[in-house]
Amino acid sequence: MNNATDNAANTPPWPGDKLKKCVETEAKRLNREVEWVTEVVKFDGVIVRERRWWNFVKPIPPPKLPKLLKSERPFCGARCRDGHSCRARVVEDRRRCRMHGGLSTGPRSEAGRERIRESNRRRAKLKQV
Ligand SMILES: [Zn+2]
Repeated sequence: MNNATDNAANTPPWPGDKLKKCVETEAKRLNREVEWVTEVVKFDGVIVRERRWWNFVKPIPPPKLPKLLKSERPFCGARCRDGHSCRARVVEDRRRCRMHGGLSTGPRSEAGRERIRESNRRRAKLKQV
């Protein structure tokens, strides 16, 4: 027993400042957190062996909100050809169903975006008159 306490007192503080800094910068680079592990093997209460190492742990991502089921999502509501409003459910995180543009990505290229801008300008002008 006495031997064990002596052992603990004799071992240098771990991790040392230099090692700690080094490992932590590496963890930052990897976008991980450091877990310092000390494993002690005892025999008759005396520390026989000591193993020390560190793990780069993936930080736990914040819990994601549960996605709405299709039946919980609102109706699309677009006007159908027969005049009724669409009763299909909207695409996740969108406001229209898959048949009414819910899957559309919108203009992606710069030329496409400019085309939409021009169209909106033209329509705005028509409204003013
Ligand atoms: Zn629809």
